[in-house]
Amino acid sequence: MTGKKLQEELTWKFPNAAKEKPEEFPLAEKFCEGYKRFLDRGKTERECVDTAVELLTAAGYREIDFAGTYRPGDKVYRVIRGKSILITTFGRRPVKEGVRINGAHIDSPRLDLKPNPLYEKEEMAFFKTHYYGGLRKYQWATVPLAMHGVIVRRDGQKVKLSLGENPGDPVFCVTDLLPHLSAEQNERKLKDGIRGEELNIVVGSIPYADDEIREPVKLKALELLHERYGITERDFMRAEIEFVPAHKASDVGFDRSMIGAYGQDDRVCAYAALMAEIECAEPAYTTITLLTDKEEIGSQGNTGMDSNYLYDYIGYLAAMEGACARDVAANSCCLSADVNVAFDPTFSQVSDPLNSCYVNHGCVLTKYTGSRGKSGANDASAEYMAQVIDIMEKAGVCWQIGEIGAVDVGGGGTIAKFISNLNINVVDLGVPILSMHAPFELSAKMDVYNTYKAFSAFYR
Ligand code: MN
Ligand code: MN
Repeated sequence: MTGKKLQEELTWKFPNAAKEKPEEFPLAEKFCEGYKRFLDRGKTERECVDTAVELLTAAGYREIDFAGTYRPGDKVYRVIRGKSILITTFGRRPVKEGVRINGAHIDSPRLDLKPNPLYEKEEMAFFKTHYYGGLRKYQWATVPLAMHGVIVRRDGQKVKLSLGENPGDPVFCVTDLLPHLSAEQNERKLKDGIRGEELNIVVGSIPYADDEIREPVKLKALELLHERYGITERDFMRAEIEFVPAHKASDVGFDRSMIGAYGQDDRVCAYAALMAEIECAEPAYTTITLLTDKEEIGSQGNTGMDSNYLYDYIGYLAAMEGACARDVAANSCCLSADVNVAFDPTFSQVSDPLNSCYVNHGCVLTKYTGSRGKSGANDASAEYMAQVIDIMEKAGVCWQIGEIGAVDVGGGGTIAKFISNLNINVVDLGVPILSMHAPFELSAKMDVYNTYKAFSAFYR
């Protein structure tokens, strides 16, 4: 045997999907047109749930009735407090034999308003913010921002806000210093380039025309808010308002091979999971497609994966056929559908090239997350890795492995560890992302498409 032949047989390198399967690129492009629309319609977790419900309803899904009876192929969903959603297609086998769970998160890093946000300083009006999730604060200055959220008015009416998205809408922004005067700021560490209390959003500059008034610019802003939404300053305490990048999802590159957009972590997996769920006809095992909130702040809270809502839902499904949730969980398996860091040639020092995922090499299977000796990791077993790899290879999915950066450089976590707490097999699978958590994140269309293919195969 020649060395070359032996090398071919014994060594392994993940191929470039764009090179290996050029015929798949048009399919990926088509799939990503829907994905870009999903990104533009869902800039917050609530909007993602609303968009999902619209798509599900159009596909024949109905709200689940735990007192009802369902047949294989029946499709249902359950919304959790407007911010998370569980979606099911009933399978041919009893739930007792286990379900197939695919869980993505639909919250993304952003600037939340503080409960008392509005103030005036030197004849300009601003909103105070508290950032949500792990973001690099300096990236969020001088970026056009849109306002999204809800206010529960004192008359009980819930007002939905979305301003800065439509052509002609005003946008908002955080200011930064000019280079001419930033000598002192330049000496700060990058993480303090813009500090938390400097993430103040410009909202107005015209004073209310009355000389008797103190803070007339603030009053003018309040007058406009009252005209538009019927709210007063007290109502901010009854609100959840999020400022997010105002730009729309775009193709990136001469070859249009990539997508640049806000919130791709993790709406890219959420959309792929949703499409795989909708297209799944009569699966062997009952599905639970899970789009959850609060992953970016550690999954705490009653709309996050550290709460009981998934286990309770499994319990209700079990009870419908007289089974027990513990048995269902023990027989179930799950994909934690989340993104991983794509190898960035400009910042190659943070990655181990042998164990990184690469743009255009397909979806990324991440055995473990965590940091510093796998602390806080869900470390998937060899048996479960083998099961998931077999599913992908049989379905002709382009996939690769990845880890969250080189050892001891940093790290991160996903919802996987909360699912494994329920005694369910789980591993991370998702899309490689460049500039993760930035206002403009980058993904490759071939990777998005192959992630969707992997999710579909998992349900089949
Ligand atoms: Mn994520
Ligand atoms: Mn994230």
